[in-house]
Amino acid sequence: MAQARQVEAMTLRAVFPGTFDPIHFGHIDIARRGCALFDELVVAVYERPLKVSLFSPEERIELVRTAFADEASINVQGYSSLTVHFCESIGAKVMLRGLRVFSDFEHEFRMALTNRRLAPKIDTVSLITSEQHTFLHSTTVREVASMGGDVSSMVPEFVQEALGEKLSAHRDTGKDVYNSLRD
Ligand code: ADP
Repeated sequence: MAQARQVEAMTLRAVFPGTFDPIHFGHIDIARRGCALFDELVVAVYERPLKVSLFSPEERIELVRTAFADEASINVQGYSSLTVHFCESIGAKVMLRGLRVFSDFEHEFRMALTNRRLAPKIDTVSLITSEQHTFLHSTTVREVASMGGDVSSMVPEFVQEALGEKLSAHRDTGKDVYNSLRD
């Protein structure tokens, strides 16, 4: 009697890590394109960046969750360990990154090789940014918003509102908003 062959269904899970301070259209584009490549995408919000962040970890996670509320295959989690350890802890085999300009490449290349040394079973997949987002960086969003500029082409409306509230709270405390938000 012929034996039925069992095909094990495997879920290909990828992690898209970042600080997301705050999330912008460049991040959203990479995550949505990543969705088309993997069964499940975990957008992982790093909770303890070395640089000063404008939004708290909880706020950054909340904004990222709102951005992908309509995307069933995206799930958002905070983490504070090494990114490869986080990937291993949730069984992810791929780390997704975005590449903007040529100068990103050197850093990403170094990070990918370091991560490979630490966790050889996890591969890095980098997607080239969409043309219209080439210049977009969270630092730029924070700087423009802190100077009262229009960031409506850079971030969704709910992020604009959150920026407005956060920056006016900073101003009320008399902080030098512009300089305290630079990387
Ligand atoms: P940012 O660089 O904007 O401060 P993060 O450090 O949180 O954002 O980056 C998280 C990931 O998103 C990284 O892989 C980064 O390369 C990618 N990324 C950031 N901005 C863009 C963009 N404009 N287009 C494509 N990918 C981007």
